[in-house]
Amino acid sequence: MTTQEDMRLLLHVAEWTVQNHRHVMSAIRELAGSEQNYLIIARELDRVNAHIARARSLHAEATLTLVEWLVIVDAHQWKCAYCQEKPFEVMTHRIPLQKGGTTPSNCLPACRGCCTRRKKKSPDRAPLSD
Ligand SMILES: [Zn+2]
Repeated sequence: MTTQEDMRLLLHVAEWTVQNHRHVMSAIRELAGSEQNYLIIARELDRVNAHIARARSLHAEATLTLVEWLVIVDAHQWKCAYCQEKPFEVMTHRIPLQKGGTTPSNCLPACRGCCTRRKKKSPDRAPLSD
């Protein structure tokens, strides 16, 4: 049960969070130097956050940071780690998320085609692996 005082606090924190997010995104926009860089950072930040949230909800390890993810993606020349031809489109997990978690050693960039082929081989793969 949430008291009126709790609710007042929750709303205050929620408002601060929204404001803070706006400030962070506008700082990122300035730091990124170009609109293209900003869009890449915003997209990859969303991607990492979504995977971290999913890992947490499954009580799996959730340690991957945006910096670690960008280093991984760059190490694969921004291409799919499996076919090494197509530009990467999604984050996949070497070991299914529930067991391996969203960690630097378990996450790889992939194209949708390779991701789908891997899912068919191991159907217990988490849906957000795309
Ligand atoms: Zn591929």
